[in-house]
Amino acid sequence: MIGIIVHAGAGNWNVENGHLEEAVRACEAAVAAGQAILLNGGSALDAVEAAVHVLEDCPVLDAGRGSYPNTDGAVEMDALIMDGRSLKLGAIAAIQRVRHPISLARRVMTDSGHHFLVGAGADAFADSIGFPRCDVSELLVGEDLVKYRQKEAQAALGDTVGAVALDAAGDLAAATSTGGTANKRPGRVGDSPLVGCGAYADNWTAAVSATGYGEALMRVVISKRVCDFVGTGLSAGSACEAAIRVLEERTEGDGGLIAIDARGQIGFAFNTQAMPHAYAVGDGPIVSGR
Ligand code: ASP
Repeated sequence: MIGIIVHAGAGNWNVENGHLEEAVRACEAAVAAGQAILLNGGSALDAVEAAVHVLEDCPVLDAGRGSYPNTDGAVEMDALIMDGRSLKLGAIAAIQRVRHPISLARRVMTDSGHHFLVGAGADAFADSIGFPRCDVSELLVGEDLVKYRQKEAQAALGDTVGAVALDAAGDLAAATSTGGTANKRPGRVGDSPLVGCGAYADNWTAAVSATGYGEALMRVVISKRVCDFVGTGLSAGSACEAAIRVLEERTEGDGGLIAIDARGQIGFAFNTQAMPHAYAVGDGPIVSGR
């Protein structure tokens, strides 16, 4: 049984300007892209990468195009992809001038001999493999929108994106991509590219992607925690809810989670005002929510 669920960031979404609706539509398109790959026998890794591409292209989301600039006006992005079969992962942090950070993270996993590259080293790796670079202007979506969204991003939350999937071979994968929080310091890295925090995938339990206030999420290693809860017998949904309770009780942080377990059961939870998301199981309809 194949399945996929995606999110477009837990936060205080403004319900009046149309961005939340646009984010839900992008989630539906992302699931459609991933579901088509999975139904054709494609891998969970391919499905989550393709789904995150759609979300990285959406200008109202804080990943790839539409990322928040930092206080220097530079765009520094973080991404993590993980293969639940081998537990291999690829991550990048503070990468600049890349349209699809998730694909560079995947190349780190497959081609760098390492699992996590940052800053100038990540840049050098991207150039060494001929990874497509872009101008920073392609990532910024206009001063008005950026300023507007910075104001909207109270509590320093962004609109990070993520996807998790189960393929026909029974393999799980997880992916998370972000421009980080609004008004962040140069060099700031949140939970998103940290293994077990921004995402985790293990065929023995579940695949998980997290979003929210990174400085809190990383303290409870939230994505791995969801997998551990699934390992104790909780459903994917109950495991997400339990991990959000831990986040609240131990850090008073805000966030959201999506998960799919090794049987294809979907779960999600968040303690923010909204978290646009969408999912599909088998060849079933795409279900979306906020
Ligand atoms: N977790 C992300 C970060 O702290 C932000 C978000 O999910 O919106 O970088």
